[in-house]
Amino acid sequence: MLKLIDGKKLAEERRTEIKAEVEKLKAEGITPGLAVILVGEDSASQVYVNNKEKACHEVGFHSEVYRLPEDTTQEDLLALIDKLNKAEHIHGLLVQLPVPKHIDEQAVIHAINPAKDVDGFLPENMGALLIGDEAFVPCTPKGCVDLIKQSGVEIAGKKAVVVGRSNIVGKPMAILLLQENATVTICHSKTKNLKEELLQADIVVAAIGKANFITGDMIKEGAVVIDVGMNRDENGKLVGDIDRASMEGKDCWLTPVPGGVGPMTITMLMKNTLESAMRKRG
Ligand code: NDP
Repeated sequence: MLKLIDGKKLAEERRTEIKAEVEKLKAEGITPGLAVILVGEDSASQVYVNNKEKACHEVGFHSEVYRLPEDTTQEDLLALIDKLNKAEHIHGLLVQLPVPKHIDEQAVIHAINPAKDVDGFLPENMGALLIGDEAFVPCTPKGCVDLIKQSGVEIAGKKAVVVGRSNIVGKPMAILLLQENATVTICHSKTKNLKEELLQADIVVAAIGKANFITGDMIKEGAVVIDVGMNRDENGKLVGDIDRASMEGKDCWLTPVPGGVGPMTITMLMKNTLESAMRKRG
């Protein structure tokens, strides 16, 4: 029987734990602070930023959201980042991507102080993750590890296949699974035998961005399947990369879309910001 891993419930549990830690910090006079900068009117970005602001309030963080107009200059944006980099009360700082075309995205990301890079996008954090040093781990893969562990299936010694090799999901996901002692294969658009690779996997993480792309016949019985994809199908419905209907009846674990990876991602952003405040305290 298909067993679902409830990301919404797990995210709520994690947020309760974070809230308890925040209360302890507040008793010491420290309130974790997250600053989010949004440039322009992108509707999906507005939803993400509103959700981040809401999550901050829920766990008791100080939250600052800067909603800047579409025609904001790169110079003005960099000046604001510089100010927030230096602000004592801000422990996490991020710029919601994508930024408008006239702004150099890489210049913006690289302007963020690595000690406040709670998205874990900067080379300083990516490099530290790779060599096993203390780092801010990108939020989506961090949440995926937590979700896999919820299944109760041990990761060590298992064969894991990550489909997708982006810097924010696929690559860090593979590193985290390696750290958990899985034997890891990364697949991508040039992989020739995806189905063969998948059929050997005890753990599958799909981060492709193609609606219902992986079907039940490509998944081994007993596998833990984490569906990172967030896509719209032909009817405009939110679906993952895994074809849910063809998974029914299989003896597998699966994260649903919605209600799986999504709620965990913002929760891990809260966790990284909390960790940043704790690190600063020493
Ligand atoms: P990217 O577009 O950056 O990466 C997609 C990856 O999928 C690429 O590595 C690409 O390979 C690979 N791919 C594309 N087609 C195939 C194929 N036919 N077979 C195998 N691999 C393929 O996407 P992201 O990593 O940013 O995001 C992936 C998905 O996850 C999206 O749906 C996104 O919306 C979702 N997402 C969800 C989050 C959440 O919180 N739930 C957070 C972040 C992302 P190649 O490198 O060769 O092009």
